[in-house]
Amino acid sequence: MKLTFLGAGESGIGAALLAKKHGHDVFVSDRGAINEVYKHELESHGILYEEQQHSWERIVQAGEVVKSPGIPDHVPIIKELVSKGIPVISEIEFAGRYTTAKLIGITGSNGKTTTTRLAHHLLTTAGLDAGMAGNVGKSFARSLSEEHQYPYYVLELSSFQLDGIRGFRPDIALLLNITPDHLDRYEYRMENYIRSKFRIAMNQQPEDVFLYNAEDEHIGAHLQSNRLRPRLLPISSRMIEGHLLHVGDSTFDMRESSLRGRHNYMNALFALSAAKLWGAGDEALQQGLNTFVNVAHRMERVAIIDGVEYINDSKATNVDAVYYALEAMEKPVVWIAGGQDKGNDYGPLMELVKSKVRALVCLGVDNRKLLETFAGLPAVEANSAEAAVAQAARLARTGDAVLLSPACASFDLFKNYEDRGEQFKTAVQLRKKTE
Ligand code: ADP
Repeated sequence: MKLTFLGAGESGIGAALLAKKHGHDVFVSDRGAINEVYKHELESHGILYEEQQHSWERIVQAGEVVKSPGIPDHVPIIKELVSKGIPVISEIEFAGRYTTAKLIGITGSNGKTTTTRLAHHLLTTAGLDAGMAGNVGKSFARSLSEEHQYPYYVLELSSFQLDGIRGFRPDIALLLNITPDHLDRYEYRMENYIRSKFRIAMNQQPEDVFLYNAEDEHIGAHLQSNRLRPRLLPISSRMIEGHLLHVGDSTFDMRESSLRGRHNYMNALFALSAAKLWGAGDEALQQGLNTFVNVAHRMERVAIIDGVEYINDSKATNVDAVYYALEAMEKPVVWIAGGQDKGNDYGPLMELVKSKVRALVCLGVDNRKLLETFAGLPAVEANSAEAAVAQAARLARTGDAVLLSPACASFDLFKNYEDRGEQFKTAVQLRKKTE
């Protein structure tokens, strides 16, 4: 079949490689410039592509179009394709057709990467030959285009990926939580975003399992008015007792785990429950919990200087993530926040900020909203990570924590959240050296 791939990022390239492997007639089109490494890959596989343009005549010949999750549905080219009756699907949908592996799919507003990585770590510790893909690391399609075929997969799924599925069916689906995010892509309607998240279960059958956060109000409301086919397995904070996690008849101890905070305990409950469904034994699961190392930029401890602990939570790009970061803090906090505001409502943070935050350092170009919202707090502004760390060090007292948990995107001052986190860590390490 003739297939067109719109957007030559990790998922688009992965899907094109998989399509080529299965003998399709493949064409890749990107409106921007394509990364040199990707271009080389396409060329070495004999895949035709174009960049800096979309050639409509060529694209419209396709029997099906695979769209990068970065391209919104409302752009003209997608609308045109849909109106011509050409199916537009996501890379996950496409990839799902080329495997019989058992799949765990993980979605939610926050905690996807942590839970995906943890579930994968638990499964491999228990001896299962499991792959990990989706929004974390390699795309699912790329992984399937490679030689080794895993019998099990853990997939991180964004709502954008889920928007483009039709028949994709995970054996186990995890819906971690739903809080406002990316509303700009959902006509600013929360119900559209919720519906998008629930697509993870839309093709599941009674023999499949759907794990969900039983305390999440949006999830609860949706389940009340919609009947799902899979077996429902609720996860709730009642399964947490201090540092113990209770899953069915098993109990796990989190004292040796590097995961901190109630939100991470919830993530762990999801990952443990899923791994148990595939037969992982308690001993291996406990060992997996003890040896798991999370990715950088999520409540990452950087250093202790002059009795002040520095924590990098640069990935907290929305209010909910900050809520849990602050909730997990047991010391007074000098809070570094700000950046590109995505229409934030800081209301839910008020009480926590009042009880835990000593001072605010605003790290953004336009800090007015933060400064106005938290007018009662001592606050300063900084326009670089280095300046923010210097200000925070000045405001912090021995026994405090300095927490970078921005609640905003990073694009005003930094390349991305990783860049923001790295610059923060470098500034902290430099201070440590000159201590
Ligand atoms: P995602 O992949 O969904 O963006 P991450 O695991 O990368 O999630 O974590 C993103 C941010 O959200 C981090 O700041 C992290 O501390 C916070 N976080 C992690 N798990 C949860 C959760 N269950 N609820 C709320 N916030 C969370």
